[in-house]
Amino acid sequence: MNKIQMQNPIVDIDGDEMTRVIWSLIKDKLIIPFVDLKTEYYDLHVKNRDNTNDKVTIEAAEAIRKYKVGVKCATITSNKARQEEYNLKQITRSPNGTIRKILDGTVFRKPIMISTIKPIIPTWTKPITIARHSYGDLYLSTNALVKAGSKAEIVITDQNNVETRMTINDFKEDGIVQSYFNLDTSIYKFADTCFKTAIEEKMDLIFSAKDTVAKEYDTRFKDIFENLYEERYKSEFEKLGIKFSYTLIDDAVSKAIKSNGGFLWACKNYDGDVMSDMVATGYGSLALMTSVLVSPDGAYEYEAAHGTVRAHYYKHLKGEETSTNPIAIIFAWSGALAKRGEIDNNKELIDFAHLLEKSTIDTINCGFVTKDLYNMSTVNNKKIVNTNTMIDEIFRKLENNI
Ligand code: NAP
Ligand code: MG
Repeated sequence: MNKIQMQNPIVDIDGDEMTRVIWSLIKDKLIIPFVDLKTEYYDLHVKNRDNTNDKVTIEAAEAIRKYKVGVKCATITSNKARQEEYNLKQITRSPNGTIRKILDGTVFRKPIMISTIKPIIPTWTKPITIARHSYGDLYLSTNALVKAGSKAEIVITDQNNVETRMTINDFKEDGIVQSYFNLDTSIYKFADTCFKTAIEEKMDLIFSAKDTVAKEYDTRFKDIFENLYEERYKSEFEKLGIKFSYTLIDDAVSKAIKSNGGFLWACKNYDGDVMSDMVATGYGSLALMTSVLVSPDGAYEYEAAHGTVRAHYYKHLKGEETSTNPIAIIFAWSGALAKRGEIDNNKELIDFAHLLEKSTIDTINCGFVTKDLYNMSTVNNKKIVNTNTMIDEIFRKLENNI
């Protein structure tokens, strides 16, 4: 068989622990036998980030900007415990944070739906995609403990040194205070990416916030979304028969639970963090969720939504078998291959990516499941398999499907 050729590379960002083990299994067993895989490889193993003073992470993000398509393995975000565990000379920043800051994007998270995996919320027959704003708010906030008798204020000093003061609270007793911010350009780019994605995927778009309470703050988000819609996207939405609406966050939660799915849900940073875990769990598992960072200048970074699965890795090191679910990582690769094919007009590569996804789903539908999915599988003669066997079974399906 002639291998499928690629014109341009995918930025291949390796990571840590169990996901690193699965990363090379997937490339060796499911991709390289069929595709003449062209990659630019960056090793974000926690030790290599430490050795390069995190330069490798910045280079990886810049490579995604250059080549437009990247795929990233889960990585350890170091902390004190990890510093000791891996004997690191420093605690580096979250690699996802560093990459997001350089690419300036929105993270889209979508459940992988499989007919024989019963969602925990049975009415969700179509996927709900979360679009999470990835800049500012709580994640760039300033916090403090406040002693009784203190006064907390917001002071805004403009460029002419004119001060505007607002009292947050006169503290009669000990308490806490927090402030945060966002930027118009970031909100604008977030909204723009959401509208473009809704059009690309032909899905209704809901943006949710709490403008009734955060009267200036969340109203700014709402206005930017609504103005951009009216000025730029309304006619295209109407042509496609899709809808845009603004909804209060609490109302959006209740609508989402009662819905059949099938829409794009744009969330502010914190709401998106929490809601993507809620949505993933409602559909079955974090290992059945795809995640892609879309940058405003058209670069894409695919990843799994879960972490490095440390507990399984330590079993693996002891020589024990693990039943770690490789599906989200396979779909990160298929997503990147399909996007590479789309940008390069390479139909063969797009078709292969779709076959890889189909073969993975066929395998689950035949009753081969990793441990995490066993209780949710509706197949009569279902069987728990280890990670290696799962990948081998997917390979057998893929060979037959090609
Ligand atoms: P985790 O990797 O998300 O795993 C937590 C637990 O969830 C596992 O022990 C396992 O439960 C289950 N699980 C997650 N993914 C699974 C899969 N593919 N198949 C089967 N079960 C799965 O979180 P962690 O082990 O607590 O975190 C490890 C590291 O991941 C941390 O250092 C963190 O910084 C990093 N992290 C990275 C990313 C990223 O790079 N995208 C995201 C999140 C976390 P059972 O043990 O019950 O089987
Ligand atoms: Mg979260």
